[in-house]
Amino acid sequence: MTNFNFPLESTYAELPDVLFSKLSPTPVSQPEIIIFNPKLADEIGLNFSETSEEQRTHFLSGNLVPQGTAPFAQAYAGHQFGNFTVLGDGRAIVLGEHRTSSGRRFDLQLKGSGRTPYSRGGDGRAALGPMLREYIISEAMHALGIPTTRSLAVVNSGETVYRETELPGAILARIAGSHIRVGTFEFASLQGDTAITQALLDYLIDRHFPEIKESENQPLALLEAVIEQQAKLITHWMRVGFIHGVMNTDNMALSGETIDYGPCAFMDTFAPDTVFSSIDHKGRYAYANQPYIAQWNIARLAESLLPLIEGNKEETIAMAEDVLNSFEQVYKKRWLSMMRSKLGLASAEKEDEKLITDLLDWMHASQSDYTNTFRNLSNSTLISGELYASKNFQNWHSRWQDRLEKEEQDRESSIAQMRSVNPSVIPRNHKVEEALQAGEQSDFKPFHDLINAMNEPYEEGEHLLPYQAPPQPGEKVLQTFCGT
Ligand code: AMP
Ligand code: MG
Repeated sequence: MTNFNFPLESTYAELPDVLFSKLSPTPVSQPEIIIFNPKLADEIGLNFSETSEEQRTHFLSGNLVPQGTAPFAQAYAGHQFGNFTVLGDGRAIVLGEHRTSSGRRFDLQLKGSGRTPYSRGGDGRAALGPMLREYIISEAMHALGIPTTRSLAVVNSGETVYRETELPGAILARIAGSHIRVGTFEFASLQGDTAITQALLDYLIDRHFPEIKESENQPLALLEAVIEQQAKLITHWMRVGFIHGVMNTDNMALSGETIDYGPCAFMDTFAPDTVFSSIDHKGRYAYANQPYIAQWNIARLAESLLPLIEGNKEETIAMAEDVLNSFEQVYKKRWLSMMRSKLGLASAEKEDEKLITDLLDWMHASQSDYTNTFRNLSNSTLISGELYASKNFQNWHSRWQDRLEKEEQDRESSIAQMRSVNPSVIPRNHKVEEALQAGEQSDFKPFHDLINAMNEPYEEGEHLLPYQAPPQPGEKVLQTFCGT
């Protein structure tokens, strides 16, 4: 007898068949829950209260598919580092969609759940380390106030996965607004039947963009909305120094959430060209490139939608290009306003952009820590230390003080504003690696400690000190891996 108080729907599986494959996860031998996220379960109303621990474990590992549930893997394509490939959920299965009491719809997906028709050469499984990484960083992103897929649980599968070495296997239960990607539209468009792309567009609008339903030109209205959505998301990333690392079009979700935490990492020392991913040789996905790549990805979405735009080919291309070109302005406006808030500025002055870029230039030249510099500026006490004694910084600081004088809001409000956007703590890469390495040896204390430290990242506290310190030279982790 299984008691799950939340029926899972599969509205996505009402789309044209080519877009998904119905199948269930492949069972694992000895699942064991490593971490479960009760706060998230409560937040969205996934009620496990009448489910035994054993049932919950089997459910979250994919061993138990409740009656009436119809799981599926999604087909998609994508530009990976600029090259087009047909992909799909090779190691993930959407168990179903959960509808909250307020009517919001979420996918419950299991990642590492076994082979699917899209697995290509892969084993459909995931190693423990990368799933712990996704849990830590996605939940930290959420705490930082950044749209993201969430992590409901990590389950140890009890099985070994074979990469370069033998590794413990795991399954991540992921919650997402949806898993529709730019690459899903590329895949639909590849079928050469506009009815498929149109069905996907209708579905996407219903689920994420109801406000454009009445629009006369839905594809163009969608592009405009996606430009706003992604500009907003990337601005958040830039605010906290997040580097996604693998912004392929299949890793850009049209729910507006950060998705697929592979080689991602947070920047310690400020440097616009920072790259962590071991496979990003040319720095395509470097920190400062992220807005350009977002625009590039949206251009691929535009190409997929072209056949749905009324008019001859030249006309539709020109219309789409016009919309795409607006990205720069939309992004710039958001970035400026975000950077102003990092400096406690509520009003806008012409001089602000130079004030901001001069600070960033100084940070770059002096190899300052991105997070700590902004947090130090947010402290009402004067900032001290050798770094800040330099003439360049002092000059900048007095310009900033003069600029703050022009604010109508009082200093206290400026400081409160700064403290709400400049985190005191981020999941620094060396701390993440430390937690994963211990986890792989079955010591989950550093993992849990790090997650707890990231609970309220805009607050201060003694317990945060070890997480606030930048890595010592010997602790620096300069490279991250895709984690398949
Ligand atoms: P990612 O780098 O996680 O975005 O994955 C890129 C593509 O490779 C996706 O289509 C994945 O489903 C697929 N993939 C990654 N790892 C595996 C695996 N172990 N088995 C099968 N497919 C995989
Ligand atoms: Mg992916």
